[in-house]
Amino acid sequence: MMNKNSRRRFLRQTVTAATGLALAPGLVSCGAGNTATASSSVPARAPEKGRKLNVALLGLGSYAKGQIAPSLQFTRHCQLAGIITGSPEKIPEWQAKHDIPDENVYSYDNMDELADNPNIDVVYVITPTATHKEFAVRAAKAGKHVWCEKPMAMTVEDSQAIIDACNENNVRLSIGYRMLHEPNTQDFIALSKEKAFGAFTAATSLAGYAGSDPPTDYWRGQRAMGGGALYDMGVYTVNGLRYGLQMAPVAVVKAMQHRPTEVDVTTEYTLEFPGGLLAEGKTSVVTNYNQLRIEGENGWHEMQPMQPYGGVKGLTSAGTVLGPPIDGKQQTLQMDDDALAIMNNTPVLAPGEMGRDDIAVIRAIIESAETGKRVVL
Ligand code: NAD
Repeated sequence: MMNKNSRRRFLRQTVTAATGLALAPGLVSCGAGNTATASSSVPARAPEKGRKLNVALLGLGSYAKGQIAPSLQFTRHCQLAGIITGSPEKIPEWQAKHDIPDENVYSYDNMDELADNPNIDVVYVITPTATHKEFAVRAAKAGKHVWCEKPMAMTVEDSQAIIDACNENNVRLSIGYRMLHEPNTQDFIALSKEKAFGAFTAATSLAGYAGSDPPTDYWRGQRAMGGGALYDMGVYTVNGLRYGLQMAPVAVVKAMQHRPTEVDVTTEYTLEFPGGLLAEGKTSVVTNYNQLRIEGENGWHEMQPMQPYGGVKGLTSAGTVLGPPIDGKQQTLQMDDDALAIMNNTPVLAPGEMGRDDIAVIRAIIESAETGKRVVL
């Protein structure tokens, strides 16, 4: 039950200052390469030089609380300034801990009023995957830049709707692919870009953890909400092959999903890339493995583990170690990179188009597993 005090906090006071909304000249919206829509009715605000961007977290679950909020304490270009939640009982603790004023506290019902609040620049969507589209579109329509957690959405259509909403409302969009901001992963990607070990011959991408079949009364155990290994962990394997091979797959050759209840606990797949290159992917929420390995004509380079919060380490056939591992601050780097991209009007590392294209691969893997057929992308 909501008590009087939390209800008061929950009902944010309307901010009447419409003044801060000045058009950011030439601001490019959403993913790299998309031009802002000149006729947009809700212009994004140009942040003042040297000012930190104010971020509102939408969804105060385990990732927001355990990783994103603590990481925001170390960011240099953005700061935690607001919350948007469907759980009023969480509000007092968040307000007290992060010094969040009443006027920056919203519910899912009144979050559209963000349009009137010049003190929030970015909404970071950190809710169950099936809800990303609705919340990201509403944030964009309120004129706020959008950071959206992975996996971007349930479908390509939903992902595109987020991209379109950001374009139409002249705001930027980044997907929460934290690995792209991790320095050892960036060194690994540099080796891929220069084909340090010759033409690629094969690739393997594995991401799994030894958990248990998620309960069906929790979203991670519900298919319609985006639960299961493939959406949750498999998206790292798909994205890893994209950056490891520096190209997009052309087909899912075959796939197999193990679904003891509603969602898959393990999924295996084979992707075909241009030139006939085959890559093997595997993901699980019941078995531990974590490796991204690219084979070339003259050797190999790999990340092992490839996607934990800390301890990412790389190795090559030449004996080079990519490290030392950084300790748990990928999200700080991610949010600072994304804030700088907004302030400097530069491309983001993880644009909406990348998130959308990974969802296309995920959907094709599911289709291939269900039909037993090769699915062209
Ligand atoms: P969680 O279950 O711990 O938290 C989800 C939050 O969303 C809760 O506060 C819940 O109240 C809220 N919510 C809003 N609408 C909801 C609805 N309709 N049904 C259920 N809950 C609803 O989940 P989480 O682990 O914090 O994951 C949230 C998102 O963050 C997911 O998209 C997940 O894939 C992503 N995530 C990313 C990483 C990463 O490393 N990038 C890590 C963990 C989670």
